Amino acid sequence: MKGMATAAPPLATPEQIALYEPVIGLEVHVQLGTRTKIFCACPNEFGAAPNTNVCPVCLGLPGALPVLNQQAVELAMQASLALHCEVRGQSVFARKNYFYPDLPKGYQISQYDRPLAEHGWVEIELPDGAVKRIGVTRLHMEDDAGKSTHDGYRDSSQYSYVDLNRTGSPLAEIVSEPDMRSSDEAFLYLTELKLAMQFTGVSNCDMEKGNLRCDANVSVRKRGAEKFGTKVEIKNLNSFRFLKQAIDFEIARQVGVLEAGGAIAQETRLYNPDVDETFSMRSKEEAHDYRYFPEPDLVPLAVSGEWLARVKASMPELPAGRRKRFVSEHGLREYDAQVLTATRALADYYEVAAKASGDPRMAAHWVTGDLAALLKAAGKEVEECPVSPERLGELIALIAGGELTGKLAKEILPKMFETGEAARAIMEREGLKAMSDSGELEKIVEGIIAANPKQVEQYRAGKTSVIQFFVGQAMKATRGQANPAAVSEILRQKLV
Ligand SMILES: [Zn+2]
Repeated sequence: MKGMATAAPPLATPEQIALYEPVIGLEVHVQLGTRTKIFCACPNEFGAAPNTNVCPVCLGLPGALPVLNQQAVELAMQASLALHCEVRGQSVFARKNYFYPDLPKGYQISQYDRPLAEHGWVEIELPDGAVKRIGVTRLHMEDDAGKSTHDGYRDSSQYSYVDLNRTGSPLAEIVSEPDMRSSDEAFLYLTELKLAMQFTGVSNCDMEKGNLRCDANVSVRKRGAEKFGTKVEIKNLNSFRFLKQAIDFEIARQVGVLEAGGAIAQETRLYNPDVDETFSMRSKEEAHDYRYFPEPDLVPLAVSGEWLARVKASMPELPAGRRKRFVSEHGLREYDAQVLTATRALADYYEVAAKASGDPRMAAHWVTGDLAALLKAAGKEVEECPVSPERLGELIALIAGGELTGKLAKEILPKMFETGEAARAIMEREGLKAMSDSGELEKIVEGIIAANPKQVEQYRAGKTSVIQFFVGQAMKATRGQANPAAVSEILRQKLV
């Protein structure tokens, strides 16, 4: 049919795109952080030598029977609760039949018409400060497939290699309602979902290891229209950036087709980040018929009210709740609370440091300021921070107690970072200490007063803010070792 292919219409212009409303829903796969796989006792781990974490069950050998992993169910229940879903008293596993080389059983064990949980939501904060609720249709459990490698081997032009270590890893699939209206909203939804999974400890959501995978359903409709447009599924968006780029491209492509008088084909597409485009993978006609039926080797999963209550009671605090508490109890600014809940590890670190310091706001200042800068320069995550949160708290308490000035503390922290030592050990070894000895300070202050008669006159004339000038001079004269509170006190006495 050479010569029959018609070129795709050009991408829509921003003016054309503005006439349409995008409608976006996400399907997210989260790998549950269990010790073993979902239906067998093989380790659920990343990075082992190919095909070493396998057994007759996950290899799908005839006669091998699956046994449901209780830890996987509990993590999936926690994930459901974190997304405000209702957990069903009874859910059913089903076989989803399809053929693929990395699926040795010839079917995936999933949940179909009776999933583990339904009717949840995730709240996102829009740039204008408004809070928008995105519906979560359902959360169901399933086993993962293996991995095919099509390149990187000497004979890759002839063969593909299959690694079945991942086969049978437990997954939670989380399906949203088509509630998102821009790639930014999709980005925010996935961010909140990921945080909820990390804070509950359900999954580390490491996208590089494939622990969090995302498909997007995208359609467009004329603004004001009720009816949804034809949706296109974009598969395997394995980074936040690609998710956003793929959706933006797809919106421009679909509006371009419609504005050129064409129709959107219902199909599955893939995103190629190298050229920033999506391309067709298969059309609706080629879509799989999975012939779902209830899994005969597993009884329905029953979740008793007592079990659900126990899991509920074990739920840790979620990121949104923690953010609110950092503002209301710790007196932090909204922005700092947001920064400090970027990961659970960071929130935990801050909270221990805040408690040890006795001054949560000062602790927030140090964690997001000097400490963050040191971590960044060293290329380290907070989990690997050489300064324990207790020791950072001690350092801050030393400032509050007048034994250290802020300036001295700024010198000491990098040394703590380098050696892992306590602040006090470094202070003693290097003779660093806030100068509070009033005899010595008095002499310095008297010298400053004598040298600045003009400022003394201003102060006595009622301009008391000049005191900051004198404190600054004293700090300079002592190279930051003077305790500013002690200096102010002496100044007030001498200047009257
Ligand atoms: Zn196994």
